[in-house]
Amino acid sequence: MYFSKLYAPTLRETPAEAEVVSHKLLLRGGFIRKSSSGVYTYLTLAQRVLQKISAIVREEMNKAGGQEIMLPVIQPAELWLESGRWHVYGKELFRLKDRHDRDFCLGPTHEEIITDLVRGDVYSYRQLPLLLYQMQNKYRDERRPRFGLMRGREFIMKDLYSFDKDEAGLDVSYQKMYDAYTAIFTRCGLKFRPVEADSGAIGGSDTHEFMVIADSGEAEIVYCPECDYAANVEIALCVPSDNGEEPAKNMEKISTPGQTTIEQVSQFLQVPAQKLIKTLFYQADDEIIAVLVRGDRTINEIKLQRVHPSLTLEMASAQQIKEVTGCEPGYVGPLKLGKQIKIYADNEVKTMVNGVCGANEENYHYINVQPERDFPRTTYADLRLIEKGETCPKCQAVLNWARGIEVGQVFKLGTKYSEALNAKYVDENGKDNLMVMGCYGIGVSRTLAATVEQNYDEHGIIWPMSIAPYQVVVVPVKVQDPEIWQGAQTLYEELQKAGVEVVLDDRDERAGVKFKDADLIGYPIRLTIGKKYASEELVEVKLRKDSEISYINKNEIIEHVKGIIEKY
Ligand code: ATP
Ligand code: MG
Repeated sequence: MYFSKLYAPTLRETPAEAEVVSHKLLLRGGFIRKSSSGVYTYLTLAQRVLQKISAIVREEMNKAGGQEIMLPVIQPAELWLESGRWHVYGKELFRLKDRHDRDFCLGPTHEEIITDLVRGDVYSYRQLPLLLYQMQNKYRDERRPRFGLMRGREFIMKDLYSFDKDEAGLDVSYQKMYDAYTAIFTRCGLKFRPVEADSGAIGGSDTHEFMVIADSGEAEIVYCPECDYAANVEIALCVPSDNGEEPAKNMEKISTPGQTTIEQVSQFLQVPAQKLIKTLFYQADDEIIAVLVRGDRTINEIKLQRVHPSLTLEMASAQQIKEVTGCEPGYVGPLKLGKQIKIYADNEVKTMVNGVCGANEENYHYINVQPERDFPRTTYADLRLIEKGETCPKCQAVLNWARGIEVGQVFKLGTKYSEALNAKYVDENGKDNLMVMGCYGIGVSRTLAATVEQNYDEHGIIWPMSIAPYQVVVVPVKVQDPEIWQGAQTLYEELQKAGVEVVLDDRDERAGVKFKDADLIGYPIRLTIGKKYASEELVEVKLRKDSEISYINKNEIIEHVKGIIEKY
């Protein structure tokens, strides 16, 4: 490809709307253009990268036994009503009506469609396991589309769905996908980690997110430096810290006029926040529940939903709190609550000695409460957010923290969709069973952006060889010089013949300008035809990922380049 013909309109200035590196560099490098909020056009260079990522994904999916199909983008509301998600999915679902006023949506994901497909055509255990996947645009009307390709409203996803006879079969399919994802992101040249993740409000199935480590990542993860434990902080297990030992004293109600916050009560009573018990009320569907954590900790609502499953979970209003406790929120506690109010407490609360909690009476708190003794109908669980400096739940080493970009997720669905849509097969004994499902997604366009977030410097992108838009750029320093131009053209043709993906920068520009664009676009190998070519038949070789320059004789350059590509 001649650069003058390549549709890669590079920009000098960074467009003001771009906040993160990948968005800036992909716009400046002429890879993408915005169409509307969260919707982008992929130009030639980006399309080539996407095709390479897709090829790697396809190879690994096929290797793992997946079969590629293509499901419709437009999905009828009936299926979403059948699964119950039409009303649950909310505003992220792009909904539309046809000319007959029938409801449809644009697929944000394809569990319904594929379960409907499979229930129609698969009826025997002999047809299972079945692993079907597709690569397609997905549509989600995200609340905050941002960061360019990272969080789009139209984006490319590979999604695979597995159908097995039983849980044991699902375990095998899940492991296959986990391994395939590991292979895919390794081949893409990314530094990543699979982490334990949130499986959503209902069902406690296994799920892992594949996180590309990058400061701009929206997710936060913890990982153990000593063992293999790694988790999204949303669900990371907390080891209760030692509350110390002291003789238990008698509970006492004391006056705390006007002291309503943790800080105020802690100051007023001269006790550290660790000694205080924070009581919060939530509305979970149509029930009010009480949740306790130590005063210096934060409740983790995802963990709360695991022990108390509900479709919606919101902090109760001051009015609701007053109704159940009979007092203002600043003085509430777990004592004297009506039996209909379930009480949950974080594990750490259990071992507190001589704690402080609200008295459910304005201007009063209790001191010297012993939760195990005084709150008998409490359910204890891990309900708090992990904090920096905490230790690994498996091996006690201090956990490391990092930010990550979620590029993929693997998920055991179990029978959630097969039950809702009645997808059954007949087993060896002639008995009907529900199929056991898994789903597995990779954000193909997000992977492109994540690669840039991890591979760049102040000059531009540094593509890993495996997914670079082109492997090599040939730069003649002066196209007006016939010897240099001839040399560059010959090299370009020979590289093409050798199967190397190459761009020839044929523009009548200064070498500096061409080098700048080469760095911005990020070709892994730059070959310069300059003075040393004319005098000594030497080609200048520079790799984008380091600063060294070497000179190779024109007769050896093709083999040399092939060697670099192989070893890179
Ligand atoms: P997120 O938590 O980032 O919103 P998600 O968990 O909702 O993502 P999944 O339903 O697991 O996403 O989709 C599978 C993959 O699709 C994700 O791992 C991610 O790589 C990609 N993806 C999801 N939403 C977007 C988006 N808005 N733009 C680009 N890629 C996305
Ligand atoms: Mg996800």
